[in-house]
Amino acid sequence: MSPLSGKVQTVLGPMDPNQLGRTLTHEHLSMTFESCYVAPLPGDEDVATAPIEMKNLHWLHQNPYSSQENLLLCQETEAVREELLSFRRAGGGAIVENTTTGISRNLGILQQLSKDTGVHIVAGAGFYVDQTHSDQTRKMSVEQLTDVIKNEVLHGADGTDIRCGVIGEIGMSWPMTESEKKVLRATASAQVELGCPVIIHPGRNPAAPAEIVRILQEAGGDIDKTVMSHLDRTIFDRRELLEFAKLGSYLEYDLFGTEVLNYPFNLEIDMPSDSQRVETLAFLLQEGYEDRILVAHDIHTKNRLTKYGGHGYSHILRNIVPKMLSRGMSQGQVDRILIENSRRWLTFK
Ligand SMILES: [Zn+2]
Repeated sequence: MSPLSGKVQTVLGPMDPNQLGRTLTHEHLSMTFESCYVAPLPGDEDVATAPIEMKNLHWLHQNPYSSQENLLLCQETEAVREELLSFRRAGGGAIVENTTTGISRNLGILQQLSKDTGVHIVAGAGFYVDQTHSDQTRKMSVEQLTDVIKNEVLHGADGTDIRCGVIGEIGMSWPMTESEKKVLRATASAQVELGCPVIIHPGRNPAAPAEIVRILQEAGGDIDKTVMSHLDRTIFDRRELLEFAKLGSYLEYDLFGTEVLNYPFNLEIDMPSDSQRVETLAFLLQEGYEDRILVAHDIHTKNRLTKYGGHGYSHILRNIVPKMLSRGMSQGQVDRILIENSRRWLTFK
């Protein structure tokens, strides 16, 4: 049995899962997203290169990936610290910070933020999508990748002794690349040995989540301890959603606060509103998936911080929870989603 069995591993060390409290299961506190820069539309070049200011905020909210400055969340540690204190005041307890290799994970900052604010922070092991894989990563075998991931959980990552408490977000494109498939198999192998939680970023296609689950299962992964992120931009048809839900992973709606007209990473997608997200959660509850739902904001750019007119890390607790209650969910169901499901998922086997 692993020494971590029955515990949650935060950036300050292993802890009793009952101390977590309300938990956001997919956020970023410090990262860079330059790898996903989208060139501005013709005519938008000036606003895209101007410093962020009030008169540009609507443009920025609609075109978050076309401003280089907006992609540097790593520059906002002070603002994030204020936000975490506000999250605590709103009744928040813990955050899964699943920045992985490729998008500038910074464990030292996460540890300092946790010390400064009292928010429990769980860091992520592994690799983001193919376009961020280094040549060295691409050359590794599944066994070598498994060792890297295990080491990040057992001994510390990025040359520090700060340990990761989940594997992921593991980034997948659509279609999946060979390098991504190796990482996925390594994720499953490491998970079997460690008994640890896994979280996946699927490609933007309704078939992607089920295909990922199939590969994880073949490699021995524990689907019952795996989160499928970003379902709000991935599966739209309710019958397809129920088909996927039957496979047994956690179902994460983690783009709360993102309401964008044209989703630049896939223009075919109509990004749902927060009201539509709440409707989908109500549907899943009605279908009996109360013990599988997780929620978050996946903040990964500056414009989502309150400093830049965004919704911040407290949006779910301050605005979405009251909406859930007003749409017929019980306090017990809300607690299941925010406290019990995340606690169960994050606890090592
Ligand atoms: Zn993310």
